[in-house]
Amino acid sequence: MKVLLPAAEVAPIIKLGGLGDVVGSLPKALEKIGVNVDVIVPFYPTAKVQDVKIFKAFDLEVPYDDTANLVEVYKTKLPDSNVDVLLLKNSKYFSRGGKDAFANKISETEMFAFFSRAVVEFVKAQFNTYDLVHCNDWHTGMIPHLLDDELAETRPAVLYTVHNLAYQGIGDQELVQNMGIVPGDHPLIDWDIADGDVNFMLQGITSSDYVGTVSPTYAKEILTPEYGGDLVDVLQVRESRVAGILNGIDTSSFPRDYTSHNWREAKKDHKAALLEKFGLTDPQKPLVSFIGRLDPNQKGLDILYEAIPSIVKAGGNFVLLGTGDAGWQDKLTKFAEQDDLRGAVSINIMFDVDLARKIYSGSDFLIVPSKYEPCGLIQMISMWYGTLPIVRATGGLKDSVTEGKTGFLFDDYSSQALIEAVNKALITYSGHGETSFDSMVVAAMQADFSWDSSAREYKKLYEKVHALRKEVANA
Ligand code: ADP
Repeated sequence: MKVLLPAAEVAPIIKLGGLGDVVGSLPKALEKIGVNVDVIVPFYPTAKVQDVKIFKAFDLEVPYDDTANLVEVYKTKLPDSNVDVLLLKNSKYFSRGGKDAFANKISETEMFAFFSRAVVEFVKAQFNTYDLVHCNDWHTGMIPHLLDDELAETRPAVLYTVHNLAYQGIGDQELVQNMGIVPGDHPLIDWDIADGDVNFMLQGITSSDYVGTVSPTYAKEILTPEYGGDLVDVLQVRESRVAGILNGIDTSSFPRDYTSHNWREAKKDHKAALLEKFGLTDPQKPLVSFIGRLDPNQKGLDILYEAIPSIVKAGGNFVLLGTGDAGWQDKLTKFAEQDDLRGAVSINIMFDVDLARKIYSGSDFLIVPSKYEPCGLIQMISMWYGTLPIVRATGGLKDSVTEGKTGFLFDDYSSQALIEAVNKALITYSGHGETSFDSMVVAAMQADFSWDSSAREYKKLYEKVHALRKEVANA
Protein backbone atom coordinates (compact mmCIF):
# COMPACT_ATOMS: atom_id res chain seq x y z
CA MET A 1 0.00 0.00 0.00
CA LYS A 2 1.45 3.34 -1.05
CA VAL A 3 -0.22 6.44 0.39
CA LEU A 4 0.13 10.16 -0.31
CA LEU A 5 -0.69 12.40 2.63
CA PRO A 6 -1.34 16.05 1.71
CA ALA A 7 -1.53 18.55 4.59
CA ALA A 8 -0.95 22.19 5.50
CA GLU A 9 1.89 21.43 7.92
CA VAL A 10 4.33 18.75 9.03
CA ALA A 11 6.41 18.92 12.22
CA PRO A 12 9.23 19.65 12.74
CA ILE A 13 9.56 21.41 9.36
CA ILE A 14 6.31 23.38 9.62
CA LYS A 15 4.52 23.26 12.97
CA LEU A 16 1.59 25.48 13.75
CA GLY A 17 -0.41 23.16 15.99
CA GLY A 18 -1.54 19.60 16.60
CA LEU A 19 -2.07 18.87 12.89
CA GLY A 20 1.67 19.31 12.31
CA ASP A 21 2.46 16.87 15.12
CA VAL A 22 0.12 14.25 13.64
CA VAL A 23 1.39 14.60 10.07
CA GLY A 24 4.98 14.43 11.35
CA SER A 25 4.48 11.28 13.38
CA LEU A 26 1.73 9.03 11.95
CA PRO A 27 3.68 8.25 8.73
CA LYS A 28 6.68 7.12 10.82
CA ALA A 29 4.51 4.70 12.78
CA LEU A 30 2.93 3.43 9.54
CA GLU A 31 6.35 2.89 8.01
CA LYS A 32 7.20 0.52 10.88
CA ILE A 33 4.23 -1.70 9.94
CA GLY A 34 4.95 -1.72 6.23
CA VAL A 35 2.74 1.11 4.99
CA ASN A 36 4.65 3.45 2.73
CA VAL A 37 3.45 7.05 3.15
CA ASP A 38 4.74 10.17 1.38
CA VAL A 39 3.82 13.53 2.91
CA ILE A 40 3.19 16.53 0.63
CA VAL A 41 3.02 20.12 1.96
CA PRO A 42 3.50 23.69 0.70
CA PHE A 43 7.10 24.94 0.96
CA TYR A 44 6.59 28.14 2.92
CA PRO A 45 9.56 30.51 3.29
CA THR A 46 9.25 29.93 7.06
CA ALA A 47 9.76 26.14 6.75
CA LYS A 48 12.55 24.99 9.08
CA VAL A 49 14.83 23.12 6.69
CA GLN A 50 18.19 24.22 8.12
CA ASP A 51 18.82 20.92 9.87
CA VAL A 52 17.60 18.52 7.18
CA LYS A 53 18.99 17.45 3.82
CA ILE A 54 16.81 18.79 1.08
CA PHE A 55 17.00 18.31 -2.69
CA LYS A 56 15.20 19.71 -5.68
CA ALA A 57 13.54 16.74 -7.38
CA PHE A 58 11.76 18.16 -10.43
CA ASP A 59 9.48 20.87 -11.79
CA LEU A 60 5.72 20.58 -12.15
CA GLU A 61 3.54 22.68 -14.36
CA VAL A 62 0.33 23.50 -12.51
CA PRO A 63 -2.61 24.98 -14.42
CA TYR A 64 -4.42 27.47 -12.21
CA ASP A 65 -6.47 30.56 -13.01
CA ASP A 66 -5.88 30.03 -16.75
CA THR A 67 -2.13 30.21 -16.26
CA ALA A 68 0.61 27.59 -16.30
CA ASN A 69 2.41 27.97 -12.96
CA LEU A 70 5.80 26.56 -12.16
CA VAL A 71 5.99 24.52 -8.95
CA GLU A 72 9.35 23.21 -7.85
CA VAL A 73 9.15 19.89 -6.04
CA TYR A 74 11.69 19.47 -3.25
CA LYS A 75 12.30 16.29 -1.30
CA THR A 76 13.43 15.64 2.23
CA LYS A 77 12.74 13.00 4.88
CA LEU A 78 11.06 13.05 8.26
CA PRO A 79 13.80 12.90 10.93
CA ASP A 80 14.90 9.38 11.92
CA SER A 81 12.83 7.74 9.23
CA ASN A 82 12.63 6.87 5.59
CA VAL A 83 9.38 8.80 5.09
CA ASP A 84 9.61 11.13 2.09
CA VAL A 85 8.36 14.69 2.48
CA LEU A 86 7.58 16.55 -0.74
CA LEU A 87 7.64 20.33 -0.49
CA LEU A 88 5.93 22.34 -3.20
CA LYS A 89 7.58 25.67 -3.91
CA ASN A 90 5.84 28.55 -5.64
CA SER A 91 6.65 32.10 -4.66
CA LYS A 92 3.25 33.53 -5.64
CA TYR A 93 0.92 31.19 -3.79
CA PHE A 94 3.10 29.88 -0.95
CA SER A 95 4.72 33.13 0.06
CA ARG A 96 3.18 33.14 3.51
CA GLY A 97 2.41 30.50 6.05
CA GLY A 98 1.64 30.85 9.67
CA LYS A 99 -1.23 30.89 12.04
CA ASP A 100 -3.35 32.60 9.36
CA ALA A 101 -3.27 29.36 7.42
CA PHE A 102 -6.10 28.15 9.63
CA ALA A 103 -8.41 31.08 9.19
CA ASN A 104 -11.48 31.06 7.02
CA LYS A 105 -10.01 33.83 4.93
CA ILE A 106 -10.12 34.19 1.18
CA SER A 107 -6.34 34.45 0.84
CA GLU A 108 -5.81 31.15 2.64
CA THR A 109 -8.49 29.44 0.59
CA GLU A 110 -6.77 30.67 -2.58
CA MET A 111 -3.45 29.31 -1.33
CA PHE A 112 -4.96 25.89 -0.67
CA ALA A 113 -7.02 25.86 -3.87
CA PHE A 114 -3.71 26.20 -5.66
CA PHE A 115 -2.08 23.62 -3.38
CA SER A 116 -4.89 21.13 -4.11
CA ARG A 117 -4.47 21.52 -7.84
CA ALA A 118 -0.68 21.15 -7.46
CA VAL A 119 -1.08 17.94 -5.41
CA VAL A 120 -3.29 16.46 -8.12
CA GLU A 121 -0.75 17.40 -10.81
CA PHE A 122 1.86 15.65 -8.68
CA VAL A 123 -0.32 12.51 -8.44
CA LYS A 124 -0.72 12.58 -12.23
CA ALA A 125 3.02 12.97 -12.74
CA GLN A 126 3.50 9.89 -10.52
CA PHE A 127 0.71 8.00 -12.28
CA ASN A 128 -0.06 4.58 -10.81
CA THR A 129 2.11 5.16 -7.74
CA TYR A 130 -0.44 5.90 -5.01
CA ASP A 131 -3.20 3.51 -3.92
CA LEU A 132 -4.74 6.02 -1.56
CA VAL A 133 -4.61 9.75 -0.88
CA HIS A 134 -5.14 10.61 2.79
CA CYS A 135 -6.41 14.22 2.85
CA ASN A 136 -6.36 16.30 6.00
CA ASP A 137 -8.70 19.14 6.96
CA TRP A 138 -10.20 21.85 4.76
CA HIS A 139 -6.89 22.72 3.11
CA THR A 140 -7.18 19.50 1.10
CA GLY A 141 -10.97 19.28 0.76
CA MET A 142 -11.05 19.97 -2.99
CA ILE A 143 -8.58 17.20 -3.84
CA PRO A 144 -11.17 14.37 -4.27
CA HIS A 145 -13.11 16.29 -6.96
CA LEU A 146 -9.91 17.21 -8.76
CA LEU A 147 -8.74 13.58 -8.69
CA ASP A 148 -12.09 12.52 -10.11
CA ASP A 149 -11.87 15.09 -12.89
CA GLU A 150 -8.28 14.39 -13.80
CA LEU A 151 -8.02 10.62 -13.33
CA ALA A 152 -11.62 9.35 -13.34
CA GLU A 153 -11.76 5.61 -12.57
CA THR A 154 -7.96 5.35 -12.34
CA ARG A 155 -7.82 7.72 -9.38
CA PRO A 156 -6.52 6.54 -5.99
CA ALA A 157 -8.97 5.96 -3.11
CA VAL A 158 -9.47 8.99 -0.82
CA LEU A 159 -9.73 9.10 2.96
CA TYR A 160 -10.54 12.59 4.26
CA THR A 161 -9.69 13.21 7.91
CA VAL A 162 -11.41 15.99 9.84
CA HIS A 163 -8.98 17.31 12.45
CA ASN A 164 -11.17 20.25 13.39
CA LEU A 165 -14.64 20.80 11.95
CA ALA A 166 -14.72 24.45 13.06
CA TYR A 167 -12.21 25.60 10.44
CA GLN A 168 -13.95 24.98 7.14
CA GLY A 169 -12.13 27.07 4.55
CA ILE A 170 -14.90 29.13 3.03
CA GLY A 171 -13.70 30.86 -0.13
CA ASP A 172 -14.91 32.79 -3.10
CA GLN A 173 -16.75 30.60 -5.60
CA GLU A 174 -14.33 31.76 -8.33
CA LEU A 175 -11.75 29.45 -6.80
CA VAL A 176 -13.68 26.49 -8.20
CA GLN A 177 -13.05 27.63 -11.75
CA ASN A 178 -9.51 28.75 -10.94
CA MET A 179 -8.76 25.16 -9.96
CA GLY A 180 -10.10 24.01 -13.31
CA ILE A 181 -13.36 22.52 -12.08
CA VAL A 182 -16.23 23.13 -14.48
CA PRO A 183 -19.41 24.30 -12.73
CA GLY A 184 -22.19 21.90 -13.63
CA ASP A 185 -19.90 18.85 -13.50
CA HIS A 186 -20.41 18.31 -9.77
CA PRO A 187 -23.92 18.73 -8.32
CA LEU A 188 -22.50 19.07 -4.81
CA ILE A 189 -20.38 22.02 -5.85
CA ASP A 190 -23.32 23.68 -7.64
CA TRP A 191 -25.43 23.26 -4.52
CA ASP A 192 -22.66 24.62 -2.30
CA ILE A 193 -21.85 27.71 -4.41
CA ALA A 194 -25.48 28.74 -4.81
CA ASP A 195 -24.88 31.13 -1.88
CA GLY A 196 -21.79 32.66 -3.52
CA ASP A 197 -18.99 30.80 -1.77
CA VAL A 198 -17.44 27.36 -1.65
CA ASN A 199 -16.88 25.39 1.54
CA PHE A 200 -13.75 23.21 1.23
CA MET A 201 -14.56 21.16 4.35
CA LEU A 202 -18.04 20.36 3.09
CA GLN A 203 -16.61 19.28 -0.26
CA GLY A 204 -14.00 17.05 1.38
CA ILE A 205 -16.61 15.36 3.54
CA THR A 206 -19.05 14.74 0.70
CA SER A 207 -16.68 13.79 -2.13
CA SER A 208 -14.20 11.46 -0.41
CA ASP A 209 -14.59 7.69 -0.22
CA TYR A 210 -14.48 7.71 3.58
CA VAL A 211 -14.38 10.30 6.36
CA GLY A 212 -12.09 9.96 9.35
CA THR A 213 -11.74 11.98 12.53
CA VAL A 214 -9.18 11.98 15.28
CA SER A 215 -10.99 10.30 18.17
CA PRO A 216 -13.90 7.85 18.55
CA THR A 217 -15.85 10.31 20.74
CA TYR A 218 -15.47 13.20 18.27
CA ALA A 219 -16.65 10.86 15.48
CA LYS A 220 -19.92 10.46 17.41
CA GLU A 221 -20.12 14.12 18.49
CA ILE A 222 -19.91 15.57 14.96
CA LEU A 223 -23.05 13.64 14.03
CA THR A 224 -25.03 15.75 16.54
CA PRO A 225 -26.27 19.31 15.86
CA GLU A 226 -24.29 20.68 18.84
CA TYR A 227 -20.92 19.66 17.38
CA GLY A 228 -21.76 19.10 13.71
CA GLY A 229 -23.18 22.64 13.37
CA ASP A 230 -23.87 23.69 9.77
CA LEU A 231 -22.40 20.46 8.46
CA VAL A 232 -24.43 18.04 10.58
CA ASP A 233 -26.75 17.12 7.71
CA VAL A 234 -24.00 16.21 5.27
CA LEU A 235 -22.19 14.31 8.01
CA GLN A 236 -25.30 12.36 8.96
CA VAL A 237 -25.75 11.31 5.33
CA ARG A 238 -22.25 9.80 5.50
CA GLU A 239 -22.72 8.23 8.94
CA SER A 240 -21.89 4.69 7.78
CA ARG A 241 -18.61 5.98 6.42
CA VAL A 242 -17.32 7.97 9.39
CA ALA A 243 -14.57 6.48 11.57
CA GLY A 244 -12.67 7.87 14.57
CA ILE A 245 -9.09 6.88 15.37
CA LEU A 246 -7.35 8.45 18.35
CA ASN A 247 -4.14 10.32 17.55
CA GLY A 248 -0.95 9.21 19.19
CA ILE A 249 2.19 11.17 20.05
CA ASP A 250 5.75 10.60 18.94
CA THR A 251 7.48 10.62 22.30
CA SER A 252 10.90 11.08 20.65
CA SER A 253 9.77 14.68 19.93
CA PHE A 254 9.27 15.25 23.65
CA PRO A 255 12.58 14.66 25.42
CA ARG A 256 12.32 13.81 29.11
CA ASP A 257 15.20 13.33 31.54
CA TYR A 258 13.26 11.18 34.02
CA THR A 259 11.18 8.01 34.10
CA SER A 260 8.20 6.70 36.04
CA HIS A 261 10.75 5.50 38.67
CA ASN A 262 12.72 8.66 39.34
CA TRP A 263 10.26 11.42 38.39
CA ARG A 264 9.84 12.90 41.87
CA GLU A 265 13.26 14.52 42.30
CA ALA A 266 13.58 15.48 38.63
CA LYS A 267 10.17 17.13 38.44
CA LYS A 268 10.89 18.97 41.68
CA ASP A 269 14.00 20.49 40.10
CA HIS A 270 12.15 21.39 36.91
CA LYS A 271 9.41 23.01 38.93
CA ALA A 272 11.88 25.05 40.99
CA ALA A 273 13.59 26.30 37.81
CA LEU A 274 10.24 27.20 36.28
CA LEU A 275 9.02 29.10 39.35
CA GLU A 276 12.24 31.06 39.45
CA LYS A 277 11.98 31.91 35.75
CA PHE A 278 8.43 33.19 36.19
CA GLY A 279 9.01 34.96 39.51
CA LEU A 280 6.55 32.71 41.31
CA THR A 281 6.96 31.95 44.97
CA ASP A 282 6.61 28.86 47.13
CA PRO A 283 7.61 25.57 45.47
CA GLN A 284 5.40 23.71 47.98
CA LYS A 285 2.32 25.00 46.20
CA PRO A 286 0.86 22.86 43.43
CA LEU A 287 1.59 24.31 39.98
CA VAL A 288 -1.37 24.30 37.62
CA SER A 289 -0.72 25.28 33.98
CA PHE A 290 -2.39 25.86 30.65
CA ILE A 291 -0.73 25.57 27.23
CA GLY A 292 -2.52 26.13 23.96
CA ARG A 293 -3.89 28.28 21.20
CA LEU A 294 -5.94 31.15 22.60
CA ASP A 295 -9.07 30.33 20.61
CA PRO A 296 -12.09 31.56 22.57
CA ASN A 297 -14.51 29.39 20.60
CA GLN A 298 -12.71 26.14 21.32
CA LYS A 299 -10.23 26.24 24.16
CA GLY A 300 -12.46 27.17 27.09
CA LEU A 301 -10.81 30.53 27.82
CA ASP A 302 -13.90 32.04 29.45
CA ILE A 303 -14.26 29.30 32.06
CA LEU A 304 -10.50 29.19 32.59
CA TYR A 305 -10.41 32.96 33.17
CA GLU A 306 -13.10 32.70 35.83
CA ALA A 307 -11.34 29.79 37.51
CA ILE A 308 -7.86 31.31 37.84
CA PRO A 309 -8.56 33.34 41.04
CA SER A 310 -10.03 30.19 42.63
CA ILE A 311 -6.90 28.21 41.79
CA VAL A 312 -4.83 30.86 43.54
CA LYS A 313 -7.25 31.04 46.49
CA ALA A 314 -7.09 27.26 46.85
CA GLY A 315 -3.31 27.56 47.26
CA GLY A 316 -2.05 26.98 43.72
CA ASN A 317 0.30 28.77 41.35
CA PHE A 318 -0.84 29.23 37.75
CA VAL A 319 1.14 29.51 34.51
CA LEU A 320 -0.25 30.08 31.02
CA LEU A 321 1.55 29.77 27.68
CA GLY A 322 -0.37 30.62 24.54
CA THR A 323 -0.97 32.86 21.58
CA GLY A 324 -4.01 33.64 19.49
CA ASP A 325 -6.97 35.94 19.91
CA ALA A 326 -5.66 39.49 20.52
CA GLY A 327 -8.49 40.46 22.88
CA TRP A 328 -7.87 37.46 25.09
CA GLN A 329 -4.10 38.00 25.06
CA ASP A 330 -4.67 41.50 26.52
CA LYS A 331 -7.34 40.42 28.94
CA LEU A 332 -5.22 37.63 30.40
CA THR A 333 -2.06 39.75 30.58
CA LYS A 334 -3.81 42.61 32.43
CA PHE A 335 -5.54 40.17 34.74
CA ALA A 336 -2.23 38.73 35.96
CA GLU A 337 -1.18 42.21 37.09
CA GLN A 338 -3.89 42.29 39.77
CA ASP A 339 -2.48 42.62 43.29
CA ASP A 340 -4.18 39.49 44.59
CA LEU A 341 -2.67 37.36 41.83
CA ARG A 342 0.86 38.80 41.85
CA GLY A 343 3.53 36.19 42.60
CA ALA A 344 1.09 33.35 41.91
CA VAL A 345 0.16 33.81 38.25
CA SER A 346 2.36 34.07 35.15
CA ILE A 347 0.88 34.75 31.69
CA ASN A 348 3.19 34.15 28.74
CA ILE A 349 1.89 35.27 25.37
CA MET A 350 4.22 33.53 22.93
CA PHE A 351 4.68 30.37 20.89
CA ASP A 352 7.76 28.67 22.32
CA VAL A 353 8.23 24.92 22.00
CA ASP A 354 11.15 24.90 24.50
CA LEU A 355 9.20 26.79 27.10
CA ALA A 356 6.23 24.48 26.54
CA ARG A 357 8.51 21.53 27.37
CA LYS A 358 9.69 23.27 30.56
CA ILE A 359 6.08 23.84 31.60
CA TYR A 360 5.05 20.26 30.82
CA SER A 361 7.90 18.86 32.90
CA GLY A 362 7.76 21.39 35.77
CA SER A 363 4.01 21.49 36.42
CA ASP A 364 1.88 19.27 38.65
CA PHE A 365 -1.37 19.73 36.72
CA LEU A 366 -2.34 20.93 33.27
CA ILE A 367 -5.81 22.23 32.50
CA VAL A 368 -7.51 21.56 29.15
CA PRO A 369 -10.99 23.09 29.61
CA SER A 370 -12.02 22.92 25.92
CA LYS A 371 -15.59 23.44 24.77
CA TYR A 372 -14.82 20.84 22.12
CA GLU A 373 -11.58 18.98 21.38
CA PRO A 374 -11.38 16.69 18.33
CA CYS A 375 -8.46 14.82 19.87
CA GLY A 376 -6.04 17.10 21.70
CA LEU A 377 -2.40 16.25 22.15
CA ILE A 378 -1.68 18.52 25.09
CA GLN A 379 -3.24 16.13 27.63
CA MET A 380 -1.20 13.21 26.23
CA ILE A 381 2.06 15.16 26.20
CA SER A 382 1.25 16.27 29.73
CA MET A 383 0.77 12.67 30.95
CA TRP A 384 4.01 11.64 29.25
CA TYR A 385 5.74 14.29 31.43
CA GLY A 386 3.97 13.03 34.56
CA THR A 387 1.75 16.13 34.82
CA LEU A 388 -1.84 15.22 35.60
CA PRO A 389 -4.39 16.62 33.14
CA ILE A 390 -7.62 18.25 34.34
CA VAL A 391 -9.85 18.09 31.26
CA ARG A 392 -13.38 18.60 30.10
CA ALA A 393 -14.98 15.26 29.14
CA THR A 394 -15.27 15.88 25.41
CA GLY A 395 -13.78 14.42 22.20
CA GLY A 396 -10.32 12.95 22.49
CA LEU A 397 -9.91 14.33 26.02
CA LYS A 398 -12.59 11.88 27.16
CA ASP A 399 -10.97 9.04 25.19
CA SER A 400 -7.49 9.54 26.62
CA VAL A 401 -7.84 10.58 30.29
CA THR A 402 -9.19 8.21 32.96
CA GLU A 403 -10.88 9.87 35.93
CA GLY A 404 -9.01 9.34 39.19
CA LYS A 405 -6.35 7.20 37.51
CA THR A 406 -4.45 9.33 35.01
CA GLY A 407 -6.20 12.67 35.50
CA PHE A 408 -9.42 14.50 36.35
CA LEU A 409 -12.49 15.05 34.16
CA PHE A 410 -15.48 17.38 34.37
CA ASP A 411 -18.65 17.31 32.25
CA ASP A 412 -20.43 20.66 32.38
CA TYR A 413 -18.94 23.49 30.38
CA SER A 414 -18.82 25.90 33.34
CA SER A 415 -16.20 27.51 35.55
CA GLN A 416 -17.95 25.91 38.53
CA ALA A 417 -17.42 22.40 37.17
CA LEU A 418 -13.81 23.25 36.29
CA ILE A 419 -13.16 24.67 39.78
CA GLU A 420 -14.61 21.52 41.38
CA ALA A 421 -12.29 19.33 39.29
CA VAL A 422 -9.31 21.54 40.20
CA ASN A 423 -10.25 21.33 43.89
CA LYS A 424 -10.39 17.56 43.66
CA ALA A 425 -6.96 17.56 42.01
CA LEU A 426 -5.50 19.85 44.69
CA ILE A 427 -6.93 17.67 47.48
CA THR A 428 -5.25 14.67 45.82
CA TYR A 429 -1.99 16.65 45.67
CA SER A 430 -2.24 17.39 49.38
CA GLY A 431 -2.54 13.67 50.12
CA HIS A 432 -6.14 13.82 51.36
CA GLY A 433 -7.84 12.54 48.21
CA GLU A 434 -9.33 9.16 47.38
CA THR A 435 -6.30 8.16 45.34
CA SER A 436 -2.63 8.78 45.83
CA PHE A 437 -1.12 11.58 43.77
CA ASP A 438 2.10 9.63 43.24
CA SER A 439 0.35 6.55 41.91
CA MET A 440 -1.64 8.73 39.50
CA VAL A 441 1.56 10.33 38.19
CA VAL A 442 3.06 6.88 37.61
CA ALA A 443 -0.12 5.64 35.88
CA ALA A 444 -0.17 8.75 33.66
CA MET A 445 3.47 8.27 32.69
CA GLN A 446 2.88 4.61 31.91
CA ALA A 447 -0.22 5.19 29.76
CA ASP A 448 0.53 4.25 26.16
CA PHE A 449 -0.09 7.10 23.72
CA SER A 450 2.38 5.88 21.15
CA TRP A 451 1.15 5.68 17.58
CA ASP A 452 1.55 1.89 17.46
CA SER A 453 -2.05 0.82 18.00
CA SER A 454 -3.58 3.78 16.10
CA ALA A 455 -1.23 3.14 13.16
CA ARG A 456 -2.55 -0.43 13.00
CA GLU A 457 -6.09 0.96 12.90
CA TYR A 458 -5.12 3.37 10.12
CA LYS A 459 -3.63 0.49 8.15
CA LYS A 460 -6.91 -1.42 8.44
CA LEU A 461 -8.92 1.67 7.47
CA TYR A 462 -6.68 2.35 4.44
CA GLU A 463 -7.21 -1.26 3.30
CA LYS A 464 -10.97 -0.97 3.78
CA VAL A 465 -11.23 2.35 1.90
CA HIS A 466 -9.03 1.01 -0.88
CA ALA A 467 -11.24 -2.09 -1.24
CA LEU A 468 -14.40 0.06 -1.28
CA ARG A 469 -12.94 2.23 -4.01
CA LYS A 470 -11.94 -0.80 -6.07
CA GLU A 471 -15.50 -2.12 -5.90
CA VAL A 472 -16.83 1.17 -7.29
CA ALA A 473 -14.11 1.50 -9.94
CA ASN A 474 -14.72 -2.08 -11.14
CA ALA A 475 -18.51 -1.81 -11.13
P1 ADP B 1 -4.56 22.26 18.55
O1 ADP B 1 -4.11 21.40 17.39
O2 ADP B 1 -6.04 22.48 18.61
O3 ADP B 1 -3.80 23.54 18.64
P2 ADP B 1 -3.48 20.13 20.22
O4 ADP B 1 -3.65 19.82 21.66
O5 ADP B 1 -3.89 19.04 19.28
O6 ADP B 1 -4.23 21.49 19.92
O7 ADP B 1 -1.94 20.44 19.91
C1 ADP B 1 -1.29 21.58 20.30
C2 ADP B 1 0.21 21.44 20.07
O8 ADP B 1 0.78 22.73 19.95
C3 ADP B 1 0.93 20.77 21.21
O9 ADP B 1 2.11 20.14 20.72
C4 ADP B 1 1.30 21.96 22.12
O10 ADP B 1 2.40 21.70 22.97
C5 ADP B 1 1.66 22.99 21.06
N1 ADP B 1 1.44 24.38 21.50
C6 ADP B 1 0.26 25.05 21.59
N2 ADP B 1 0.45 26.32 21.99
C7 ADP B 1 1.80 26.47 22.14
C8 ADP B 1 2.63 27.57 22.52
N3 ADP B 1 2.13 28.76 22.82
N4 ADP B 1 3.97 27.35 22.55
C9 ADP B 1 4.48 26.14 22.25
N5 ADP B 1 3.75 25.07 21.88
C10 ADP B 1 2.42 25.22 21.82
